[in-house]
Amino acid sequence: MKKISIRTISQIIIVGIVLFLAFTHQQYGIEQASPIHAYCPFGALEGALTYIFSGEFLTKTYRSNYILLAIFVLLTIFFGRVFCGFFCPLGAISERLRALGKKLGIKKDVELPDTLDKYMRYVKYLVLLIIIYFSFRYTALVFDAYDPFSAFAHLGNEFDELIFAYSVLGFVVITALFSKGRRCRYFCPLGAFFALVKKLGFFKLKRDNNTCISCGICRKSCPANLKIKTADQITHPDCISCMECVNDCPKNSLDVYILGKKIKKQTFLWVVTGIFFITLSIVIWTPLWKTKPVSNIISDQGIIKVENIRGSNTLQYVIDTTKVPLTYFQEKLQLPVDIDTTMKLKEIGTTYDIKNLSGEIIETEDFRIAIDQYEEKKDNQEVTCPFGEVNCEFPGECGAYTDQDKNQICDYSE
Ligand code: SF4
Ligand code: SF4
Repeated sequence: MKKISIRTISQIIIVGIVLFLAFTHQQYGIEQASPIHAYCPFGALEGALTYIFSGEFLTKTYRSNYILLAIFVLLTIFFGRVFCGFFCPLGAISERLRALGKKLGIKKDVELPDTLDKYMRYVKYLVLLIIIYFSFRYTALVFDAYDPFSAFAHLGNEFDELIFAYSVLGFVVITALFSKGRRCRYFCPLGAFFALVKKLGFFKLKRDNNTCISCGICRKSCPANLKIKTADQITHPDCISCMECVNDCPKNSLDVYILGKKIKKQTFLWVVTGIFFITLSIVIWTPLWKTKPVSNIISDQGIIKVENIRGSNTLQYVIDTTKVPLTYFQEKLQLPVDIDTTMKLKEIGTTYDIKNLSGEIIETEDFRIAIDQYEEKKDNQEVTCPFGEVNCEFPGECGAYTDQDKNQICDYSE
């Protein structure tokens, strides 16, 4: 039986961590557990231009994204695209799916002709540019709706909202059964970024022409399907430093060099995994590591930013943060009197079978609209109590008592 490598163990740990984070977020909501987007280095790339020009983080991203990106950029400079080879959950799952495909009888990798394959590898750079541009233009994670990682981390939830992302995930899963790393090679924008960074790095893979017997085993083992046996140095940006070729070469003709110094394969695997997990374990205990702001629903100027209200916010949290009373939501959205306010907004409509005026089950957007209308009403009512009363209770001290939000306190005194 093939010995399980430290790289595989690292991949299993990462997939386990991602599933744990995804589950806790889905289970306990955004107030208890940050969305998975906060743990993806790609979020930092998507939000970089917005942050540079406005100092704002894109919704669902925060400092953690930038810290992770910085760690992986440094690792890439020294060790090549190890994010893709060791720490990408989708890459890990794709590799296991290809192994499953082989067990199911799809022994031969289904590949595009070499010339087409060569050009398809450039598509990911275009995808990267498009995403960075539109994320900046619309100040949002525009890729989220198509992101297979996002779909994976939603664990089957929000299927309607993420229908495209789930479709892409389905495509990734099916193609991974019969071909190696096709998504990574052709379409992955984060892979494209690390491929560019790798060009500046110190990692080299060299083939000894004197001992190589051109058996081609290395290409079969390579998840990036690289032509290794014809190159003296494997400098291709799609090499993900996985060491599979080094491991499987029957003549030990392949060696790793960093800063010109030869490194043993096993040392390489341990150093990469060790540096990452030790660095991460330290960083998450520093004050720098933050996966979400205390709340981004209220801006520094005290304005409610309804677009930052998430379906995973609980009703109670929204009430506490926005100061919009429960009675207003009950009246506006026909919420039951005994509603469980610890429920997430996205679950309320289906749980209580509440429909909006269009006859559709109410969603987070209906809460956002209600809050907007409440604020508008408040602005139009900038009339204050002529007697200076504060929180004047029913029936009021004068004849002007008004209580449109039905909280038993005169609106002029609130
Ligand atoms: S597996 Fe080793 S011997 Fe075979 S072609 Fe690749 S480098 Fe040469
Ligand atoms: S060339 Fe070797 S190290 Fe690079 S991706 Fe292919 S198998 Fe992995």
